Amino acid sequence: MSKSKEERIKKLKKHHIWPSVLGLFLILFIFAVIMLVVVSVSVENLLDKKLTDSIRTSEKIAESFENYDSESEKTIEQTVWSYMNILDEIQAVSVIDKDKNQVWSSSGEYPSMAEAVKVDDLLGLTHEEISIIIDDSENLLLNNDGVIYIDTSNFGDYFNPESLEDDSIPAMQVKLWLVVPANDMQVMVLHNVSVYFTDFVFMITFVLLFGIMIAIFVIYYLISIISMAFSVRKTTKIIYTDMVTGGDNWLLFIKKGTSLLKRNRKGQQNYAMLHLEMRKYRSFCTCFGVNKGQELIEKFYTALKKEIQHKEVMAHQENAAFGLLLTYTDKTQLEARIQKIENMMNYVLPGMKMYFGTGVYLVQPGERDIEQLYNNAMIACEMSGEETENKIAYFDVEMNNQKLWERKVEDDMERALANREFLVFLQPKISTSEEVLGGAEALVRWIHPTEGFIPPNRFIPIFEKNGFILKLDDYMLEEIARVQAEWLTEGRRLVPISVNISRAHFTREDLAEHICAIVDKYQVPHNVIELELTESAFFDDKDVLLNTVQKLRAAGFQVSMDDFGAGYSSLNSLKELQIDVLKIDADFFRGADVEERGLLIVSEVIDLAKKLNMKIVAEGIESREQVEFLAEQECDLIQGYFYAKPMPVTEFAQKYNG
Ligand code: C2E
Ligand code: CA
Ligand code: CA
Repeated sequence: MSKSKEERIKKLKKHHIWPSVLGLFLILFIFAVIMLVVVSVSVENLLDKKLTDSIRTSEKIAESFENYDSESEKTIEQTVWSYMNILDEIQAVSVIDKDKNQVWSSSGEYPSMAEAVKVDDLLGLTHEEISIIIDDSENLLLNNDGVIYIDTSNFGDYFNPESLEDDSIPAMQVKLWLVVPANDMQVMVLHNVSVYFTDFVFMITFVLLFGIMIAIFVIYYLISIISMAFSVRKTTKIIYTDMVTGGDNWLLFIKKGTSLLKRNRKGQQNYAMLHLEMRKYRSFCTCFGVNKGQELIEKFYTALKKEIQHKEVMAHQENAAFGLLLTYTDKTQLEARIQKIENMMNYVLPGMKMYFGTGVYLVQPGERDIEQLYNNAMIACEMSGEETENKIAYFDVEMNNQKLWERKVEDDMERALANREFLVFLQPKISTSEEVLGGAEALVRWIHPTEGFIPPNRFIPIFEKNGFILKLDDYMLEEIARVQAEWLTEGRRLVPISVNISRAHFTREDLAEHICAIVDKYQVPHNVIELELTESAFFDDKDVLLNTVQKLRAAGFQVSMDDFGAGYSSLNSLKELQIDVLKIDADFFRGADVEERGLLIVSEVIDLAKKLNMKIVAEGIESREQVEFLAEQECDLIQGYFYAKPMPVTEFAQKYNG
């Protein structure tokens, strides 16, 4: 596949799902970060506030111990109890002196040094005021503000799930001792700091609203991603669907075929690439309509699909052609299978005989350029001709060369005509009675600037196929008219010169007028121009042929039937077509074993032609015996190498027209 084609397909297939999926993840990530920040900032602030409150209360309690002595013990006790009664949070108050001796306690509890934990570790909070300092021997030291903390709770169990159902149960609870210096003593207050869900109403509302928003986003994204995935699937399907058959299309054939051949690198399996086409599909469409034609293709596809086995692929290519990559064991098996496929396709339209052409390329191990392989199969099919029969043709290198040659000829033909690279050669026709010049045939030669001399059989069939023959024949006719006009003014003796008129001309109804117009430009008498046509023109528009011949003869031209006896000639055409000259094909005189029968037929044909008032020209005569035989049969003219090969006009003029 060409690079640009590959690019185009890639572009079509390119789906934009990944950016959307990434976008979704990004949104979720941003959401998670915002949530985390909001939640942690809220929790931190709340705990901060709670802790700051606890610190203030502890300081207040500690103040009552400022002037502690045994007498004031009672009043202090009352103050402490009043605090404890008012504030649920305060669980206990204990006092130690500077030697860490227990002085006073509301509950008899004293914190142990081993329980001291850095408040920084608690919830990961950082709070300058509440950082705790512990010395090497785990003694509590005062921090700058004189406030230190000891936590006695189990940090792992902060969150209480039951609080979700019951508002009175704290969501988080932290027990900690706050230690405040008072004189030489340290007053330690045990706080039970609780946080309830209701404390987080704002945060929860925010999280919920934000969550809903994000959920809407996520749903929207998910929907668009899913619909995109569907549309990608749809696009891929469209890219790979053939609009006529509704099945696999050519792109998919290439894709699947390439991967099959890739896997078959070592040639474990024999593969054959087939170009299978229905002959005369265009005619079918002309008769029954394009819709019926397409229905037929669809039916072919369905029939073929049934024949395709594992590790094989098939697709509609264009018009009535299908590409098949089949496995095979040997040529006999392959041909039997093709036969079977063609029979099956013939069943598609019962009662109508259809013909198929199959071009086959036997894939060599390592080959995997599907389009190139198919091209070979197609060339093989093309070379098998447009016959009305089922034909299997194998590709060979010669076919490829022929194809390349055809392309070169087509590239160069217009330029060649403009540059007068086509030369007229003349081959004399000699009368049998007096052995003098009785006529000549104009035959084209191409003198190509790089290829040199090219004989007509290398380009005429190509021109007949592509229609350029119309221009070339006109050119040859004009050249002959010009030469004859020149010779006429020079006072030379004129003999009729025949020009070949290809069968392709007989589609235009004004052919006779067209020929007259060309010749009349040079003011030459029509009877010095002869027009050679072949019987094959009968196969096209018979009426045009008969009319044209009649008009040309009426205008004074001589009309001859070329190659009589070659191919499928029939005497019937002589009955219908009134012509002046019959040119007997050289084939009658070739081959040792057919000679006798051939000669017999020639004498009979000559006899018949005489009776029909026609002149006879024998072509391709190479030996004296042939000449003598023809003279005996009273053949009028002989054209052949025995007398002369075709030669340039100037040489001809010197030799025969002096
Ligand atoms: P054709 O019209 O049957 O021309 C006769 C061919 O037989 C010529 O081949 C001629 O050179 C060849 N020939 C003549 N005598 C002998 C002989 O004794 N032995 C052998 N072996 N061959 C002989 P050429 O010139 O190669 O032309 C081949 C065909 O090309 C012609 O067959 C004709 O069909 C076509 N052609 C040539 N020039 C033109 C043209 O200007 N227009 C069209 N439409 N076709 C042309
Ligand atoms: Ca001829
Ligand atoms: Ca001929």
